[in-house]
This record gives sequence, C-alpha cells and structure tokens, in this order.
Amino acid sequence: MGAAGRPMTDELSSRFLDVVGAPPAGRWQAPGRVNLMGDHTDYNEGFVLPVAIDLRCTVAARPRTDGVLHVRSLQRGDAGPVPLDQLGSAQGWAAYALGTAWALLQEGLDLPGADLVLTSDVPSGAGLSSSAAVECAVAMALQDLAGSRLPLRTVALAAQRAEAHVVGAPVGVMDQMASLFGSADGALLLDCRSLDIRTVDLDLDPRGLVLAVLDTRVSHDLAAGAYAERRRQCEQAALLLGVPALRDATERQVHDAAATLGPTLGARARHVVSEGARVHRVVEALERDDVAALGPLFAASHASLRDDFGVSCPELDTAVAAAVSGGAVAARMTGGGFGGSVVALVPPDALETVARSCREAAQQAGHPLPALRVVTPSSGAARVV
Ligand code: ADP
Ligand code: MG
Repeated sequence: MGAAGRPMTDELSSRFLDVVGAPPAGRWQAPGRVNLMGDHTDYNEGFVLPVAIDLRCTVAARPRTDGVLHVRSLQRGDAGPVPLDQLGSAQGWAAYALGTAWALLQEGLDLPGADLVLTSDVPSGAGLSSSAAVECAVAMALQDLAGSRLPLRTVALAAQRAEAHVVGAPVGVMDQMASLFGSADGALLLDCRSLDIRTVDLDLDPRGLVLAVLDTRVSHDLAAGAYAERRRQCEQAALLLGVPALRDATERQVHDAAATLGPTLGARARHVVSEGARVHRVVEALERDDVAALGPLFAASHASLRDDFGVSCPELDTAVAAAVSGGAVAARMTGGGFGGSVVALVPPDALETVARSCREAAQQAGHPLPALRVVTPSSGAARVV
C-alpha cells in the first residue's frame, strides 16, 4: 500500500501523471521467480523447475506518436527519451526495458513510441529475476499499446535476446518463460530446448510447507564475467563430448570422457548432467507426494553447484546449512549464484527458527544478515487494468 493507504498501483499512476503529464493507458505486471531445481541447465538446453512468485514489476504506459520511447523507473530514475532506431545501444538499467522494445520491433511490432514508468518489488540482483520481471512487464505493455500480441514463447525469446545483445548478459531463457507462464498452482517444468512447459502442483498448504527465500544480500552483479565463462565452458565440453548441448550427454559419457575433458570441464559437465536428472527426480517426488526425498535432492544440487560448477559463495553455503539446521525440509542456492538467494521449503512453525539460525550463522561468519521472505506461486505477466 502507498503512503496514504492507497494501493501501490494507484501511486504508480499518480507518479505517471506527474512525470508524463497525462494518465497511463493501462498497467501491466510481470513476476519474478525462484528456481526450485535446475540451475545453469537452461542455456545447456536442459530442464528447469522455476516458480513465478508474488513479487513483481509493474509498468504504467501510454502511447506516443513521435517515434520515441521514454522510460523511467521509480527505483532507478529517468533514462530520457530515446528514438526507436537507437534502442539497441541503450546502456545501464534502461537496456532491459529498451532492449526488450528493440527485440519486439525486430519481431514486427508496430510501435509508434511510448512513455513508460515502472516500479518493482523484486529485489535487484538477489537471484529472483528482477531483470526478466522488467522485460516481461515492458513487453506486455508495448504489445498492448501496439494493439497486437505475439505468442508468449516469441516474447520470451525476444526478452532473452534483449538481455544477451543489448544488456550484454548471455542468459538462458528460464527467467522470461517463468515470468510469462507463471502459475498460482505451483512450479513450471520447462524444457529449455523445445520450450514445452507444464505446471507441477506444489500443494504447499496440504503438505504443511511454505516456500521461503533467503536473500544473502550479496549482489551477483559483479559475476557477469564468470557467468559467461561458465557458459563457454559448457559449450566447449559439449563440443568435446560430441553432443549438440550438454543436455544430450549422459553421466556415463561424462565419466568416460574424463581424460578428454580434464578436471574443470569434466566437473562443469557433471553438474549440468546431474542437475538435469535432479529436476526430473524432484518432479517425480512431488508427484508421488514424497516430500522426504526433496531434502537430499536439494542438498545434492547445492553441493554440485558449489563443488562441480563453482558458482556458490560462503554466504550461500552458510545460509543453506543454517536453514537446514533451523528446520527447513530442503534448501539450496537458487539462480545464477555468486551471491543472491537460497530457496527453502519450510514448515510454517519452523520459519522463526530458520530465520534465527540464518541470522546467527551469518553474524558468526561476519556476513551480511540475510533477509527471509515467504513467497507464493503466482500467475504470469498480464495486464492489470
Ligand atoms: P536479477 O535478475 O537476479 O535480479 P540481474 O543482474 O539479472 O539480477 O538484473 C538486475 C538488473 O535489472 C538491475 O541491475 C537493473 O539494471 C535491472 N532492474 C531490476 N529492477 C529494476 C527496477 N525496478 N528499475 C530499473 N531497473 C531494474
Ligand atoms: Mg536476471
């Protein structure tokens, strides 16, 4: 709620009116996500299991007719007017919004220009995909202003292209797909090659669990180079294994190719292949109501990301251990790593002890105090008014 007890979204409209000088034509929202299983598998064309969450980016928008896109963020400021033929060279935070417009214009969107004002409660750089929330909310707004909707998969790929080519972050397509296809019923099993997607019920309530996110407050912003390096290593490993992508390799193949791959590429490939298998095992465990199986699978995923893929950090390791000792049923780092968040399944009456355990462990280790949020599965990007 806003300061005067009005909903946030009204506040956004009044801010829009203040800065643009006319009311918005509508408001659009897109959620962040937390990934339950399958990290660094998306750009290897494998499987992931994200959940769209009740933290979201909201965009108020109004068409312009002068071939200019002007975007402002209540958190980041005013990017200034940019001609539509210069969107591809956008810099900084505006590259996420303007890059998405650039990619949609490439898809043939007939956009005469727009004013956009956005706000987001997805924490930035916390591994909850604030970036895809911005991209997908902007994409929904621009399509409706242009009066035509593209298939959601086309929108996801366009937003991913914006992040790769305009922002310069060669990310996979998981975040955009999760933000666009989100479901209040649970997680999304996504095949990042075919883009087939289906909902997997989490049934958190009947199982006596909540979905908790522990933000280590270590921003992964500085890790862009390491992410791109992991991606290159995966491509190289696939080449040496003679497969189109690591998604196609088996554990046996990776094991047998140890000498060819060497220790580093071998470990990277081992993570991707084992993580892909864990996605399916988590889905099977959920579908046969075997909650007890989730703890060991989450633990194995965290160890694999830490030891084989080398993308954890002391703050994440400490938070995972403390969450489990505080009563979490399952906990692992989530997202790209190098900071960001831990995802945990927690019985509601253990939330307090999990939070305390994580705070105490962080304090003892000299880490920033992590923030615990309970999140709920949510529907995907849409127009709100
Ligand atoms: P994550 O997606 O995990 O939060 P990223 O590094 O991929 O982290 O994306 C974070 C970036 O997204 C920010 O640095 C900023 O450029 C952009 N961003 C996120 N939220 C906002 C916002 N409210 N306003 C403007 N830009 C934002
Ligand atoms: Mg991101």
